[in-house]
Amino acid sequence: MSKSLQAIRGMNDILPEQTPLWRYFESTVARLLDNYGYKQIRMPIVEFTELFKRSIGEVTDIVEKEMYTFEDRNGDSLTLRPEGTAACVRAVLEHGLTGAGQPQKLWYIGPMFRHERPQKGRYRQFHQIGLEVFNIDGPDIDAELIVLTWRLWGLLGMRDAVKLELNSLGTSESRGRYKVALVEYLSAHLDKLDEDSQRRLKTNPLRVLDTKNADTQAVLVNAPKMADYLDDESRIHFEGLKARLDAAGIPFVINTKLVRGLDYYSKTVFEWVTDKLGAQGTVCAGGRYDGLVEQMGGKPTTGVGFAMGIERLILLLETLEQVPEEISRQVDVYLCAFGEAAELAALALSEKVRDQLPNLRLQVNAGAGSFKSQFKKADKSGALYALILGEDELAQQVIGFKPLRGQGEQQNIAFDALAAHLATCVVQG
Ligand code: ATP
Ligand code: MG
Repeated sequence: MSKSLQAIRGMNDILPEQTPLWRYFESTVARLLDNYGYKQIRMPIVEFTELFKRSIGEVTDIVEKEMYTFEDRNGDSLTLRPEGTAACVRAVLEHGLTGAGQPQKLWYIGPMFRHERPQKGRYRQFHQIGLEVFNIDGPDIDAELIVLTWRLWGLLGMRDAVKLELNSLGTSESRGRYKVALVEYLSAHLDKLDEDSQRRLKTNPLRVLDTKNADTQAVLVNAPKMADYLDDESRIHFEGLKARLDAAGIPFVINTKLVRGLDYYSKTVFEWVTDKLGAQGTVCAGGRYDGLVEQMGGKPTTGVGFAMGIERLILLLETLEQVPEEISRQVDVYLCAFGEAAELAALALSEKVRDQLPNLRLQVNAGAGSFKSQFKKADKSGALYALILGEDELAQQVIGFKPLRGQGEQQNIAFDALAAHLATCVVQG
């Protein structure tokens, strides 16, 4: 195939054999979020570039080197969204959803775009489910976000494979004091820091804590700790969160180096990590961002949220072999008809059955074919039962009913009795 007809590197098709797993995952999350009282919001995929610069921060990896930015025909600078929080805050402000201090519990799902080096668990178009809560400032809601993800890992059978890491970044004032101490300490060890960290020391010193470089990590062992700089308000908030996680029986570890990649976090930050996916181990990450809304031109409005990476969670489900078998079966009943007259009768009959059993997954053979070929297709479809309508059956106004998996003899069912019969043998979702 010529190069121009291939998908863009790092942007993947999700093929029919994979979509049942995606839909299983997405519907599990959607049901859970409904049950916790979150409402879905849908934002555009493209926004003004300025939105991301202002919210995510100019000196972050995302804005510095990962954004898909282009000029449109009007000469406006637009960017494919690299994450969802910025657009969500923009939408909330634009539509006054948090006016007068009104709380909002929102979620979204969709593709995000970052120009990164594609590898397992890291793509240029990837998908996130994100939650954002506005105007609820206590640790109770931070805890709820974590509790509901814990429940999700339970539903998906992956609790043993993930670990919760937690930190507090304090308020911007206490973080400011900490930054001064950190910069002072790191400056005294400048020659031992890797090049990236030397640069970050000037632009975004907290990100040095995040380094993967072993020499820099060695220097960090004795660096000042954020925990020692926390203001009372943040400390009480953090204690409140930890007490709630204990009450809910959710294990966690404190990781004082956890700073998150985006500029806007304050107080709580957390990540769910796994050691089952190699280097791309963070499956869900978030935190509190109490200053962001104001920074984006709104009234002071607290916020807290997280985003999970769907590809990584799908990979984890597969790695753990936690893909439920039944999700790949998409057909309950396969109807085979032989000859024009039987085909016409089959069409009328199947539509009547669908009227009565709206959730029945009934596939009617298309493309005619011999008994053998239709039967093969019925079997391959994964259906539990085949229905067989030939001239003889048509003459008697009955249809052959044949179990395809396991026990049961073939029998004839009267047209009128078919829906009632299917209702007794097919479990309907
Ligand atoms: P990382 O450190 O892995 O680059 P990040 O801090 O940039 O992650 P966030 O912006 O917090 O990631 O996004 C939340 C989640 O979205 C991540 O924990 C991860 O599961 C997923 N994610 C982020 N970037 C990618 C990507 N390029 N491909 C696939 N999933 C991603
Ligand atoms: Mg990243």
